Formats: sequence, C-alpha cells, structure tokens
Amino acid sequence: METAQSLSTNPFVGDRQLRTCELCGNEYDKCFEVRMSDGTNHIFDSFECAIHVLAPTCAHCGCMIIGHGMEANGRFYCCAHCANQQGVHELEDRVVSTMERRTS
Ligand SMILES: [Zn+2]
Ligand SMILES: [Zn+2]
Repeated sequence: METAQSLSTNPFVGDRQLRTCELCGNEYDKCFEVRMSDGTNHIFDSFECAIHVLAPTCAHCGCMIIGHGMEANGRFYCCAHCANQQGVHELEDRVVSTMERRTS
C-alpha cells in the first residue's frame, strides 16, 4: 500500500528528465521519442522538429508529406497529381485497373 508520502511526489515536478531535441538541441522535459519501423529512435521537443527530420518529401514538388502521402517505386508523393507528373499512374488508376483485370 502506498503511503501519503510516496503519493506526494508530483510526476510533473519531481524526477523530470531533460532530453535534447535532435534537431534544434532544445532541452525539454517533455521531449518525446519516435521509433521508426526500422528500429531507430529519434527524440524531439516538438512535432514540428519531428516533421523536419522524419517527413518524406514529395519526389515531384518537394513539399513535406505530413499526411499519408503515396509511395511508388520507392519514392514518395504528396498526392496523385504529383505522382502522375512523374509518370506514376497506378496510384490514381489502382481501383480501375483491378476492375479491368477482373473482367479480362
Ligand atoms: Zn526541436
Ligand atoms: Zn507533391
């Protein structure tokens, strides 16, 4: 059973651990960790910093993809229009082509 003394430890005041954002170097006790699918870890103080480091950029227009985006042939696109401009058409036509394949 916990004593009143142990409960008095405020998790937001005591035992704060300063961590450093890997992009801007800000030391902040509310930094968060992002674990990538390949097992690498990143530490950031804000989502903005995380986006700058981790978000893929569109292979056509160069904007940062912070939504789902699209991936084709190992390249990322922000939208079907950009994929189209790079000669990738299956992203838009995926539904149609699978239907065509079924009928033929
Ligand atoms: Zn930062
Ligand atoms: Zn784009």
